[in-house]
Amino acid sequence: MKITQIVVHRLSVPLPRPVRTARHDHAHADTVVVEMRTDAGLVGSGYCFAFGAHRARALAALVDDLVPLYEGRDPRAARAHFTAAWRAINFLGHAGVAPMALSALDTACWDLAARAAGLPLVRHLGGDRTRVPAYASAGLWIDYSMDELLAEAEQFLGQGHRAMKMRIGRARPAEDVERVRRVREAVGPDVGLLVDVNQGWDEATAIRVGRELEAFGLSWLEEPLPYEDLEGCARVAAALTTPVATGESDYGSLAMKRHLEARAADVLMPDLQRMGGVTGFLDAAALCQAWHQPVSSHLFTETSCHLLAAAPNGLILEHMPWWDALFTEPLSVADGHVLVPERPGIGLELSAPALARFKA
Ligand SMILES: [Mg+2]
Repeated sequence: MKITQIVVHRLSVPLPRPVRTARHDHAHADTVVVEMRTDAGLVGSGYCFAFGAHRARALAALVDDLVPLYEGRDPRAARAHFTAAWRAINFLGHAGVAPMALSALDTACWDLAARAAGLPLVRHLGGDRTRVPAYASAGLWIDYSMDELLAEAEQFLGQGHRAMKMRIGRARPAEDVERVRRVREAVGPDVGLLVDVNQGWDEATAIRVGRELEAFGLSWLEEPLPYEDLEGCARVAAALTTPVATGESDYGSLAMKRHLEARAADVLMPDLQRMGGVTGFLDAAALCQAWHQPVSSHLFTETSCHLLAAAPNGLILEHMPWWDALFTEPLSVADGHVLVPERPGIGLELSAPALARFKA
């Protein structure tokens, strides 16, 4: 089997509402989709994205540059192609645009490999879980009014979620504490409640406010500090009973190794595109397993659900439906879980009308 054609689509995918966190304010996900075709008639897909059309153009240029490393190759040798591509991006570096671009190709290649085997990606990777615990992530933004927060928390429960994530890191931390208190009170003690600071605090604030938040039984406190402050994050994690999560902003599985060595957090949440795709994510999950730590995910719910379902230490999946419209059907959520599609590959097909509609 050979990869015969790779089509690269540049898209501007509108977000349901502008995203505001302690460090973001965006209305579109500027997305680069890779459609990888074989001589056996199979089609695999992967995507990467940035906030900002020019930045996405840089991603697309790097994808184009890496396409020759995949064309004409057997998609079932995904790891071998990743290894060659990782070597090829050495000069540009193993962080930033290059691994993100590679991730779209690597993910499409694994999708194809699983399709070639006639198996869902989770089973192709040796896993057997058919659903993974997930949390609702597309909401509870930092700029919401209290009423909006409470209404959306209720909505998430109505959609079948049993865990959800709030963004915090407001200028006055006392407001964060009050907002968490009100949401916890509204959803009750049995719903998983996670908070994400999006790197908005310094170490002293993280420990002080983190201690005030201990009363609310949070599932985790995410990215309390700038992501590269591993030692500071380790001190925050050691000071708190609430688990600390981080890792989404760092690049390559070896960055996850550095986080583990520093004991930077209780949970790592590698990001599929910053890992360079499925290959790097699998390596990151295995490293976490070797350190007796759970692994979570960041965005890319369509592929990450398979990867967490296949990982013995897979903890909880970030459910982010921003790219649902790219596919002919969305992932299903039931009773706090995402149901892993049981069709070959990632089990989702790109929607041709969506590719046309979102064309950048
Ligand atoms: Mg986050």
